[in-house]
Amino acid sequence: MRITRRKFLKIGAATAAAASLSGLGWPHAADASQNRLRIRYTKEYHTICTFCGVGCGIICHVRDGVIVNAEGDPDHPINEGTLCSKGSSISNISYVFDEAGRPKPNPNRLTKVLYREPGGDRYQEVEWDWALDTIAQRIKATRDATFEASVDVAGREVTVNRTQAIGWLGSAFCTGEENYLFHKMARAIGITKMDHCARL
Ligand code: SF4
Repeated sequence: MRITRRKFLKIGAATAAAASLSGLGWPHAADASQNRLRIRYTKEYHTICTFCGVGCGIICHVRDGVIVNAEGDPDHPINEGTLCSKGSSISNISYVFDEAGRPKPNPNRLTKVLYREPGGDRYQEVEWDWALDTIAQRIKATRDATFEASVDVAGREVTVNRTQAIGWLGSAFCTGEENYLFHKMARAIGITKMDHCARL
């Protein structure tokens, strides 16, 4: 078959449109059937994401006491079916239940401290006491070495009482009261650079 320049352009445009539809999440038959299999024999629960104050709605599919699939609730007025990366990982922080219906630790959650030393390329398990003592000692040493009592960035004599060498990252998974206390503590030791994972 002879392809004219006009036909070639038409075929190219149709191919590009198909490719971009598929890139935008146009469901493939294989994907749809995989999704159906994943939620087979599950019970559907509607819940609210616990990671931050936005309060997105989530549909969880639960089989044998374990969340096997979680996705944004399309009928929820806040997120209308979308979820950020934290909400999408909700199954990793949920409880799982034993045969008697009692909650037990989720095997996806870390229960030991993993530590990577400065310049290291792998994590090692360390004791909680060692980790907490080491964090406290390093904060104290860094603060003492970098504390500025009475000078601002322009070199003027003012009381600032701060360290700019430590950053503090809060957590959307903590309660408002816990984050209030974290904030007070960070301010008390002179930290000015604070942020929060809800800004993801
Ligand atoms: S963490 Fe993400 S999914 Fe959860 S409520 Fe906040 S924005 Fe929504």
